Amino acid sequence: MAMKKKSPPAKAKSAGKRPSVASKGIKRVYFFGNGKAEGSADMKDLLGGKGANLADMTKVPLPVPPGFTITTETCGEYNDAKGKLPKGLMEEVRFNVAKIEKASAKTFGDVNNPLLVACRSGAKVSMPGMMDTVLNIGLNDAVVEGLSKLTGNPRFAYDSYRRLINMFGDTVKGCDHEHFEHELSAVKKARGVALDTDLNADDLKEVVARYKKVYEHHVGEAFPQDGFTQLEESIEAVFRSWMGDRAIKYRELNDIRGLRGTAVNVQSMVYGNMGDDSATGVAFTRNPSTGENIFYGEFLVNAQGEDVVAGIRTPLDCNTEMGKWSQKSWKELLAVKKTLEARYKDVQDFEFTIERGKLYMLQTRNGKRTAAAAVRIAVDFTKEKLIDETTAILRVDPASLDQLLHPTFDPKAIKNVLTRGLPASPGAAVGAIAFTAEEAERRVGAGEKIILVRRETEPADIGGMHVSEGILTSTGGMTSHAAVVARGMGTPCVAGAGGVQIDVKNRLVKIGDKTFGPTHIISINGGTGEVMEGSVPTVEASLTGPFAQIMKWADKYRTLKVRTNGDTPTDAKVARNFGAEGIGLCRTEHMFFDPERIHNMREMILATTIEARKAALAKLLPYQREDFLGIFKEMKGLPVTIRLLDPPLHEFLPHNEKDQAELAKSLNLSPEQVKNRVAQLHEANPMLGHRGDRLAITYPEILEMQVRAIIEAAIEAKKAGIKVLPEIMIPLVGTKKELDFLKKYTVETAEAVFKEKKTRVEYLYGTMIEVPRAAITAGEIAETAEFFSFGTNDLTQMTFGYSRDDVNSFLPDYLKHEILERDPFQSLDITGVGQLVKWAVDNGRKTNKDLKCGICGEHGGDPASVEFCHNVGLNYVSCSPYRVPIARLAAAHAAIKSSGKGKGYSLK
Ligand code: PEP
Ligand code: MG
Repeated sequence: MAMKKKSPPAKAKSAGKRPSVASKGIKRVYFFGNGKAEGSADMKDLLGGKGANLADMTKVPLPVPPGFTITTETCGEYNDAKGKLPKGLMEEVRFNVAKIEKASAKTFGDVNNPLLVACRSGAKVSMPGMMDTVLNIGLNDAVVEGLSKLTGNPRFAYDSYRRLINMFGDTVKGCDHEHFEHELSAVKKARGVALDTDLNADDLKEVVARYKKVYEHHVGEAFPQDGFTQLEESIEAVFRSWMGDRAIKYRELNDIRGLRGTAVNVQSMVYGNMGDDSATGVAFTRNPSTGENIFYGEFLVNAQGEDVVAGIRTPLDCNTEMGKWSQKSWKELLAVKKTLEARYKDVQDFEFTIERGKLYMLQTRNGKRTAAAAVRIAVDFTKEKLIDETTAILRVDPASLDQLLHPTFDPKAIKNVLTRGLPASPGAAVGAIAFTAEEAERRVGAGEKIILVRRETEPADIGGMHVSEGILTSTGGMTSHAAVVARGMGTPCVAGAGGVQIDVKNRLVKIGDKTFGPTHIISINGGTGEVMEGSVPTVEASLTGPFAQIMKWADKYRTLKVRTNGDTPTDAKVARNFGAEGIGLCRTEHMFFDPERIHNMREMILATTIEARKAALAKLLPYQREDFLGIFKEMKGLPVTIRLLDPPLHEFLPHNEKDQAELAKSLNLSPEQVKNRVAQLHEANPMLGHRGDRLAITYPEILEMQVRAIIEAAIEAKKAGIKVLPEIMIPLVGTKKELDFLKKYTVETAEAVFKEKKTRVEYLYGTMIEVPRAAITAGEIAETAEFFSFGTNDLTQMTFGYSRDDVNSFLPDYLKHEILERDPFQSLDITGVGQLVKWAVDNGRKTNKDLKCGICGEHGGDPASVEFCHNVGLNYVSCSPYRVPIARLAAAHAAIKSSGKGKGYSLK
């Protein structure tokens, strides 16, 4: 834990004539001090998080040095006016400085009894990318002498002054810290000392003189001696920093939007560096890494916060050391922990200073924590009756649960990040580089651990993907084949890492100026998108007791069901363990890639007569039946939606001449015949091509084989005493007539099997809604479909007209310019695609009020999309097995929020 910078002060010339309360109408400054405050804890929008909490802590009352907060709205005004402070603001500031003077019995600019202040930023959400603090405002050549006499500590006074010149010069005037540092080093060298603390008062006087020269040289004017000039310029610098590159980038990266600006907090200085009875520190009320209920803090005796940042001294652990230093302070801090948690009902991260034995609170805020800690803290706070169950549920960010579900890299490990791609499927993976899926399978078979590195993957790679530790692609977006399949498998994946150049022919990967071959080990972090050199150590994830407890509570409140997208009995099992309540999408194409099966599949595709095609399909039937039976058994009576074949047929055929020749030989065909068929199946845009229900319309015998396999497996399961609820789902439908056409074949096949087996099973016939036309004509389609499942991957692709696989070539620009707020393939575009979903649900249910509606696109595991699904009345969401807990918690959040209980609660 790093300690942060600390509190405030001020200087010279007197406050002058007492100004009256500022400009008419708008109140821009809120005072706090001596147990009273104009602001309150619920004014974070206007006063920022820090300002609102300083006001609130003052009222508790906790010992907060007096001060005031300038509103975030004022920052907005300043930036709107292209960098002009609103008229009347400085009068209001002077009026409030006078109030601090009264509360502290010190005077700003008074040589004999000076008030010094700090000036700090404070947005609504904590933003480490914002401006640094300016401390000791109010010091000048005369006041420093007064302070020296008053404290009897000239060293302290001159040290404070040189810090002000440095901080003001650097932060406010942009004169690089290095220039000051250079002078400090020169004085240390001249005195023959190594540490700043070894410099005496005279040395520091010399440092001050040198700093002033540096300032003058770089800024082009003398260091301002007027305290109000210092203060005004510091306030402006905070406002300016809101639009600085660092802050803009931070907001962009952290998805912080819609804020007007930062507040400014001006507060009377207190000093932790006044001697051995003074100290400064930071603490969390509980361990933010594990959630354990123990005080978690560090402090430094006779120090200011920056000393820690500068790494001069190592802070001490409060638990073991503070009692030895001062029993009184330690007891006070433990009492503060209790008070803060009782007041804010959450773990607090706070800063404190002890000045000559007296404790001061400088700030408090909700402490950032890991997912494991969030879960434990939420459960413990509920048990301690500080919060109720619904609040506990809302305290845990559903997306953060990912951290608990996959192994992670050891945070203490040293890593060399080579490049970054999209964090497509979370988790940590380490392995040697393989260039093809086939190579991956072979080498894993021989006992190696592999990272599959491809430009992009395709369905034929599934075997190699399955055995690999992780997948790295150089193109493709968050719903590219690699990303979707990897998430489904729970395999870590970094997709679209443009910095990775792959030379499959020579089996080389170039990243930056380094080149790697098949024997090299790399590590990928699917949660951050990092690609690292060598083997970075990992730690196993464990599902702890509090995690189970939170999920139990979530299930109590949610109304949306959560299913999983799964293609194998293993997927089904994993998902069941995570609480899945059915399978929402079984993509049958993944079942055809086993070496034996792919051969039969290819035979089917290359067949020139219907008889030959049926013969090949007959060979595939037993495999399909086995797979379905395995899934039915695992799902133990829960609904299973099976989607009939979707991808275009060319994806199942080999594309290189050697493999084509081998295939031709094994099927007694000429290589030309195979080549011609591949060419015939080639499509310029296969995503809009001969796929989905279009295949079944051309080749109904494929549908017949799959329906037969489903019904036979269901009957077999029934005979074994297992309840089954198959749902036969037709992909990519655009018109009711397509669905009617295929229903005839489906019903005929099912009836034929019932007759043969002399028994019946219930099944549903439904469709995916993936084509905008299907959504628009949902009322008609619901006359035939018994359920809808929204395939929002394709629906997004077709609504926007963005190719799922190529979107990453331009999406980053769209996000950068905020043309799109987020990747619509990750988080459902509510205003566009979402309206098609809503329209289809509403109109489908006008036709059939009991129409079962779910979603099976990737959005089913995205918390914001899950909330939308709840609000439009879907029955379930379906997502990859590893996202099931996330969706369960997100569904609970949605239910609690829509019932009004979680009103106003935000995780940010
Ligand atoms: C979809 O389009 O949302 C879907 C689930 O199908 P797939 O991703 O297999 O195209
Ligand atoms: Mg689809």
